[in-house]
Amino acid sequence: MCLDYLRTLRHETVEELSDAQALAAWVEQFGPFDTVPVPPDDGRVEGARRLREAIRTVIDSARRGVPCPASARDIVNAAARLPPPAPAVADDGRLRWRADDPIAATLSLVARDALDLTFSPLLARVRQCAGTDCGALFVDASRPGRRRWCSMNTCGNRAKKDALKARQPD
Ligand SMILES: [Zn+2]
Repeated sequence: MCLDYLRTLRHETVEELSDAQALAAWVEQFGPFDTVPVPPDDGRVEGARRLREAIRTVIDSARRGVPCPASARDIVNAAARLPPPAPAVADDGRLRWRADDPIAATLSLVARDALDLTFSPLLARVRQCAGTDCGALFVDASRPGRRRWCSMNTCGNRAKKDALKARQPD
């Protein structure tokens, strides 16, 4: 989940968290809530982007085995400290997730997931995509552990096509 969140900034240029509406849409797609009301943008979009950058720093530092800057640590810790979504039985007898602030609660899940990943053996399986201008992080779950691209459908395919083109005579 935290790596999905990092992918809201693609190729260092395509910003998916462009405004409060986009942030609510991401939380609706990846969080446990059926609907997420669009909040007023009281600086929370910027906060969400800062959290994303801080998560990247925490994970990158751990991968390189260097201490994480306190500024990044503080941001991730603060997000993780907020209450995550709580399960509740709804009127219709089904399980629903509740939170006073669905966005903050989901970002708490994202931050907790980032810390789980950072301190789990899976960290050794986190790779950076070899695709041109991609740089996305992904968990290599393949048995040989030699996966190179975040996705075969996008970066992997492009790399194959480029290699093919390079081999063809003009
Ligand atoms: Zn990629």
